[in-house]
Amino acid sequence: MIDRDELTRKKTDLIAIARRCFKRGLQTNAGGNLSVRLESADAIVIKPSGVGFNECAPDNLQVVHLDGRIEPSDHKPSKDLGFHLDLYRIRADIGAIVHCHSPWATGYASAGLEIPCLTVQTIEKIGRMPLIPLSANGGPQTETEISPVFRDTGIVAAVLANHGTIGVGATLMQAQYLAEIIEETAHIAYVRDTLLAARGLPPPDAPTFGTAAEAKAARGA
Ligand SMILES: [Zn+2]
Repeated sequence: MIDRDELTRKKTDLIAIARRCFKRGLQTNAGGNLSVRLESADAIVIKPSGVGFNECAPDNLQVVHLDGRIEPSDHKPSKDLGFHLDLYRIRADIGAIVHCHSPWATGYASAGLEIPCLTVQTIEKIGRMPLIPLSANGGPQTETEISPVFRDTGIVAAVLANHGTIGVGATLMQAQYLAEIIEETAHIAYVRDTLLAARGLPPPDAPTFGTAAEAKAARGA
């Protein structure tokens, strides 16, 4: 049974994160998607198709059960619903997903380049951001391409070729932070690579450790 209080709370959280994502320019128009898991039922709250991040409201968000059943709604389900549901099914640690088409990261993804984890923060918070190719038929990625990557529980972020980014977390805020770090890292990587190329220099090594404690522990090993 879906707990009404939990549903109201999760909808409020989702609307706030969607606004933040829009205001930061990570998503324009009605593209991208975000969702959050309900604890009181095997179900999620998700932004439907055709509704912008900035227009999310309590009466347009959809509730979808993990078996695919959609609670009565006037809206079309998101094209990305399949991979959202599948990630919740295969990873109990995932409580929220933010998928957006943020421009710097999607630029890398459209060039077929993996975004390098080149700052200590990205090493600590993300570790690795695999680039997931388009579907075999040339269309957008679905759970067929995305779920195998996320079966590795160490993966919290990925970039979809010619499409966008995925950040997952226990909460919406955690998933949103990752969406922001992915975009920030792509921007930093572009600036770094442009400066190095202008000077004819090769890229330096990326950091091995994300925190001073990790580096210290490795030295002592
Ligand atoms: Zn998308």
